[in-house]
Amino acid sequence: MANENSAITRATFDDVILPVYAPAQFIPVKGQGSRVWDQQGKEYVDFAGGIAVTALGHCHPALVSALKQQGETLWHTSNVFTNEPALRLGRKIIDATFAERVIFMNSGTEANETAFKLARYYASTRYSPYKTKIIAFHNAFHGRSLFTVSVGGQPKYSDGFGPKPADIIHVPFNDLHAVKAVMDDHTCTVVVEPIQGEGGVTAATPEFLQGLRDLCDHYQALLVFDEVQCGMGRVGKLFSYMHYGVTPDILTSAKALGGGFPVSAMLTTQEIASAFHVGSHGSTYGGNPLACAVAEAAFDIINTPQVLGGIQSKRQRFVDHLRQINEQFNIFSEVRGMGLLIGAELSEAYKGRARDLLNAAAEQGVMVLNAGPDVVRLAPSLVVEDADIDEGMARFAKAVQKIALG
Ligand SMILES: *Cc1c(COP(=O)(O)O)cnc(C)c1O
Repeated sequence: MANENSAITRATFDDVILPVYAPAQFIPVKGQGSRVWDQQGKEYVDFAGGIAVTALGHCHPALVSALKQQGETLWHTSNVFTNEPALRLGRKIIDATFAERVIFMNSGTEANETAFKLARYYASTRYSPYKTKIIAFHNAFHGRSLFTVSVGGQPKYSDGFGPKPADIIHVPFNDLHAVKAVMDDHTCTVVVEPIQGEGGVTAATPEFLQGLRDLCDHYQALLVFDEVQCGMGRVGKLFSYMHYGVTPDILTSAKALGGGFPVSAMLTTQEIASAFHVGSHGSTYGGNPLACAVAEAAFDIINTPQVLGGIQSKRQRFVDHLRQINEQFNIFSEVRGMGLLIGAELSEAYKGRARDLLNAAAEQGVMVLNAGPDVVRLAPSLVVEDADIDEGMARFAKAVQKIALG
């Protein structure tokens, strides 16, 4: 066994996996809280959080316990039978949000695919078969299926896969006039990330989201919030729509929802949900008991004043460190985002080097993310300890120093 394991190296990746990723040179083998260890036993502070997924850190005892308990009880039923963990989780989500109905899927992509299909179906069955236009935004990211890359606003992810689904229009983010110019009675939905994640960690302005709400009401279009990355406590409220005080018609959640176990959800009202009927949509695994048991345990911890109330001061601690680093090296032009979704835009002299900084950081023993070539992104555990923040940022400062001094 030990021999088999030692034969697995980073080089194996290129021999085995499709060449769609460029993973780090080291392979993580163990995690605990906000620390991760690689095959060589080197330790890292984790500010990447598996891309905003491990919101309670690695191997949180409550999640491990839920997984073990459900793993010894019932793994899978399919949608031919319902199951208790899914019903309990669904009830809790409904009690805590605007939603009156929920459907579980397995990934952010699938939750969004469900949302876009529902919005089209609702409009075409309730109003007109010609009410099909989807308005979305430049730099948006909504997933990797053909429909979701097409609604996403980054052509590099959708080009070459055509013909693409039709009647999708992209306009600049945070530009209400641009939306007004293309919105009409044929619009079935406006799809937006309240805080764009992959696109560069850019928060919507409150006026923008309120304006979208008003336009959707005026044109009888559904407002979809993709909270796959910015939801589940990341901004200090359970969902970011609560922070903005603007309620969508449909909301999608994934990433942190399962704390690392694949699961996603689409939330909506009873009225909109009722457009679907038996057979309209589905998933074999969606709402799987294992996934929902872990997600329920994560939900019970995240949706508490202790966790949500700690986000702002943790953010401040990160931002203070970034400021200090910047005073010394002048490497960032802006620090932005909300809560524990933090983006630091590289200044002119360092444009395009986010990935270099990522690698330098890993070398110093801290895992961070990028969001495009010019933005360093942090999406740590929501319960990251102050001592881990300080240690990780000290390591990050060394990485910045290496980049800055060449
Ligand atoms: C990650 C992400 C998705 C896609 O989720 P997957 O689980 O990778 O399919 C969709 N929308 C947003 C905003 C995301 O950040």
